[in-house]
Formats: sequence, C-alpha cells, structure tokens
Amino acid sequence: MQDSPFERAFARLDEAARHVEVAPEALERLRHCKAVLTVGIPLRRDDGSLEVYEGYRVQHSDLLGPGKGGLRYHPQVNLEELKALAFWMTCKCAVMDLPYGGAKGGIAVDPKKLSMLEVERLSRGFIRRIADFIGPGTDIPAPDMYTNERIMGWMMDEYSQVVRKRTPAVITGKPVALGGSRGRSGATGRGGYICIRELARTRDWQPGETTVAVQGFGNAGQEVARLLHADGYRVVAVSDSGGGIYQEDGLDVPRLIEVKNRRRKLEALYCECSVCDAASARQIPNEELLELDVDVLIPAALEDVITGGNAEQVRAKVVLELANGPTTAEADVILEKRGVTVIPDILANAGGVTVSYYEWVQNRSGDYWTAEEVQQRLDTRMCKQFHAVFDLAASKELPLRMAAYVLALERIGAAAEAMGTARFFNGD
Ligand code: NAD
Repeated sequence: MQDSPFERAFARLDEAARHVEVAPEALERLRHCKAVLTVGIPLRRDDGSLEVYEGYRVQHSDLLGPGKGGLRYHPQVNLEELKALAFWMTCKCAVMDLPYGGAKGGIAVDPKKLSMLEVERLSRGFIRRIADFIGPGTDIPAPDMYTNERIMGWMMDEYSQVVRKRTPAVITGKPVALGGSRGRSGATGRGGYICIRELARTRDWQPGETTVAVQGFGNAGQEVARLLHADGYRVVAVSDSGGGIYQEDGLDVPRLIEVKNRRRKLEALYCECSVCDAASARQIPNEELLELDVDVLIPAALEDVITGGNAEQVRAKVVLELANGPTTAEADVILEKRGVTVIPDILANAGGVTVSYYEWVQNRSGDYWTAEEVQQRLDTRMCKQFHAVFDLAASKELPLRMAAYVLALERIGAAAEAMGTARFFNGD
C-alpha cells in the first residue's frame, strides 16, 4: 500500500494538514475508502460466446454527502487507481463546496473492441450488478474516459427498471432528452475559462496581449479556447493526438472547432491552408506546444504531461490544469521554484462536476433550467471558489494547489467536527 496511487495522492492532503487546524481523526477517516465493490459482469457477445468483465465502484468518502464520480471503460482500469481517483473527487467536490463525497468506478474493458449493442448490454449488466450500491442519495455516477451521455442514458434506464421507478437523479451527464442538464457539455472548459478570467483581473492582463496554448482539442480544450478567443485572448497554439498548430498572431478558434468537428482531426486544416485563417499556422509537435513562450498553458488532454523532464522548459507564466493530473509531483516542485502559477485540476476542471450537481438538483426538483441559468450559476460558484482558493493561498503564502487542498480539508474537517471528535467526547 506504501507506494500505491492512493497513497501518493493522499500525500498532498497530509501536507495540507500542516497548514490547517483539523482533527487528526478527520484525516484518519479520509485515509480509508468508505466502501469498495468488485463485480463480474457476464456479456453475451454478438457471436454467441460469453465473456465476463471485472467492474468496480469505489466510494471514498461520504462526509460531505453522497459519492460523486465518473465511470470509465478502459483495459487498465484497476482498484488502486480508482481509489486515488475517488479520493480526488472527494477533494474536488469539497473545493467547490458541493454537498458530495468522492467516488469513481469503471470496467476493465477495451470498448473499441465491442459493438454498440455489446456496449449497451455490458453497461446495463454493470448497473444491474451495482444497483444496490448506488442511488440518488448514496452514490451518483457520471461519464468519464470512454463513456458518454448515451451510455449514461442506458444506465439511468436500467437502474429505473431495477428499482421500478423512473430515477434520473441516479446518474448525471445524461442526454438532455433523458433529464440531462443544459450547459453540461461545455461546463469543464467554461469553469477553466472563469479561472483565467478571474486570475487576469488580479494581474491586470489585457486579453489582446495575453497568449494561450491548449494541449488537447476535445470537449474541454475546445470550449476553453472558444471562450478565451471570444474575449479577445490570443490563442496561438492548439494540438490534438495528431499534432499541433501555431500562429503567432492568434488562431481563428471558431473555424478550428468547425473543421475539427467536421473532419475529426486538426490535421484537416493543413490542407485547407489557402482558404482558412490558419493559413500561416505552422505545424508543431505536441512536446513543443508545452514549451512555447506563452502566458497561459492549458493541458487539456492527458495526465503526466508536465514532468521532471520538461518542467524546466515550460515558459508559460500560468498553467491551467483542465486535464486530471497533468503535472507530476516532481514537476510541481520545479514549476513552483520557477514562479509558474499552477491552477490545480481540483479547481480548474471542477466546472463539469458542478454542472453535474445542477443536473442532480434539477432531476430531484423536477424544475429544469435554461442554459443561461446554468451558466450563470456556474459562473457565480466558480468565481467564489476561485477567489476562496486564491485568497487562502495569499494569506498562507501557499501555491494554489496546496491552498485548494487546505480549503477542501477545512470543509471536510468541519463536517467531521460537527459529528463530534475525540475532543468533544472527552469534554475538552
Ligand atoms: P476528449 O476525449 O473530448 O478530448 C481529448 C483531446 O485530447 C482530444 O482532442 C485528443 O485528440 C487529444 N489528445 C490525446 N492525446 C493527445 C496528445 N498526446 N497530445 C495532444 N492532444 C492529445 O476529452 P475531454 O472530455 O476534453 O477531457 C480532457 C481531459 O480533461 C481529461 O484529462 C479529462 O479527465 C479531463 N476532464 C474532463 C472533464 C469533462 O467534463 N469533459 C471533466 C473533468 C476533467
């Protein structure tokens, strides 16, 4: 257990505990997952054969509320990794002041090797196996790697059949037609955008003079680039798995999004050079994007991309972690020493779980909001929590990441305290 992903993730909370007065037993509670479930899911393949896949659901903590966290389909899904991811969800929900604990789950499977019908049968089978473990008041899953809103719709439907009651609040990230929230799909990018907008205010940055590079041009990366571009920021570089493009005076982001979504690859732009605004864009390798001389670098693709090996070459003044865990602990130390401001993932990409919370609230109340209302609520909450972290960092002279963990621990500690700790029961 010593060097498990969970232990490594938890080390940050141990460090945060040095900066906040928190009952040791609050930390002790967080050191253990509340519950872990492993299931075998039989899948009848289209050719008639039967395979059994391992599925998991980890509930890390319910101190602040029911568990919340995604379900991923990936061959490398395993319990230790899921425990660490569930722990991060506990911290992320606490930073955003959401009434949730953390959870995570998934199936060890390569979904690309299954037909659509097989994915549907597997998803429904998984829900039948974990139906007693999840629920609107106990644990609410959502999409994650290689799961999507259609799969969430199947899962909600299957759960509703098991409990014999339509239960949209059991899962979030559903299609709008099945009780999903308007404004959910762009929420992660929008949350990151709000962080940059608020940081810019504290630094007197002018959008037209501020340059941005985005690694990963999917759901999260496109939306943050679109919103920053609309505000006048110069988005000079973007990349996807096929490579990157750079243009010193700024890329035409709406056009890039249109082409990317039509052709699925940024590469498609290269052959359209004469007709698009990316005409003078230069192709760059993915590694080069991370080392560009820009004001803001946004990793929005994979984990562990800024490492001990390249952190010295990162020239950005600010790193906005839209991806989960894009900066290794070793790189974190180097960036801090070099004065690079890192807006940590548990704050920067929390727009998604925040709108998931709004979806759950809408499902429970039966009152559905407009996209504008969802965006307004996200803006207000994100702004408030960004400044809470920012002010705490300033007052305690901590990096933003550590301040975010301190804030999370303060809130979780208050819940533990409210139930009575040793100090209370001993009458001190
Ligand atoms: P996505 O699948 O929509 O997009 C990922 C993008 O990254 C794609 O454009 C892909 O081509 C690109 N990519 C893959 N490998 C790359 C590489 N080596 N270099 C550059 N680009 C590469 O995924 P997403 O939903 O946008 O999520 C991106 C990250 O944000 C993930 O780390 C995810 O965990 C995190 N995140 C997403 C959400 C959400 O609501 N979407 C919420 C929280 C965190």
